[in-house]
Amino acid sequence: MIKIRNNWTIDEINNIYSQPLLDLVFHSATVHRKFHDPREIQISSLLSIKTGGCTEDCKYCSQSSFYETATTAEPMMKIDEILKKAKQAKENGSSRFCLSTAWRQIPNVEMENILEIIRNVNQLDLEVCATMGMLSQTQAKQLKDAGLHTYNHNLDTGENYYDKIISTRSYQDRLDTLNVVQEAGLNICSGGILGMGESKEDRFNMLKNLSSLKKHPESVPINVLVPIEGTEMKKDPDFSFWDLLRTVATARIIMPQSNVRLSAGRASLNDMEQSFCFFAGANSIFSGEKLLTTNNALPDQDEKLFQILGLYKK
Ligand code: SF4
Repeated sequence: MIKIRNNWTIDEINNIYSQPLLDLVFHSATVHRKFHDPREIQISSLLSIKTGGCTEDCKYCSQSSFYETATTAEPMMKIDEILKKAKQAKENGSSRFCLSTAWRQIPNVEMENILEIIRNVNQLDLEVCATMGMLSQTQAKQLKDAGLHTYNHNLDTGENYYDKIISTRSYQDRLDTLNVVQEAGLNICSGGILGMGESKEDRFNMLKNLSSLKKHPESVPINVLVPIEGTEMKKDPDFSFWDLLRTVATARIIMPQSNVRLSAGRASLNDMEQSFCFFAGANSIFSGEKLLTTNNALPDQDEKLFQILGLYKK
């Protein structure tokens, strides 16, 4: 019997991550099969409903107002357009619809509009997720009451590397919001970005922090940096697919019930690499041609791969 643990140590995580690769993948695939149907992949869609002009300085992000990128600040999308996209996502097999806004925190003047959007998407029988920056206790409670299922708030990386990628908020701000979200009874979606020049120890620290939450995140998105012209973050030349695979497998082992999601950067993986990740315990993807401002794997390609591997959408 595998116990759910919230007290993994860095040494234990290192030992898991550093096993010979095929032993690690065998281990994670075995854990995966104990907690999940290995043929089932959860499909999420992500829509940016308020793009660009963000006051945070995340060095990887095209939406930050600190960098000159091809992304410009746009007004908030109208509710009708959002609902149209949500219906399309449902028709294409998504069970979850994630709403993203480029904000440090939800502005008070926008709160009622956001709650209305959540209520309406909820009525389409889609799980609604939001990623909108920091939250106060009151805001988290309001989102929950409107029917929000999950709140995304990524830790991005380890604590010691955080100030190399963001200076306008602290790691503790991040952890505080995650606590507020959990206290409000919302599910957490939280993961990180690989390939930003972080060390293995930074990855272990991030995984430790995620697995130390009172309840493990319901979803753990694992992104690979997609470098964007105009931003400061360049891809680490030493980062390889094998680092991604080890991270996916380790996340699966230490957070066995969570959905481990291949997120940004999936478009750069070939079919074999994606298959290896699914075998190692990744069981969720974002579908749709765009992931916020970056390209995503094409839906037709996903369909083909799912058929080859005998996977089905949840
Ligand atoms: S990642 Fe989010 S918080 Fe950071 S700059 Fe981009 S939109 Fe803003």
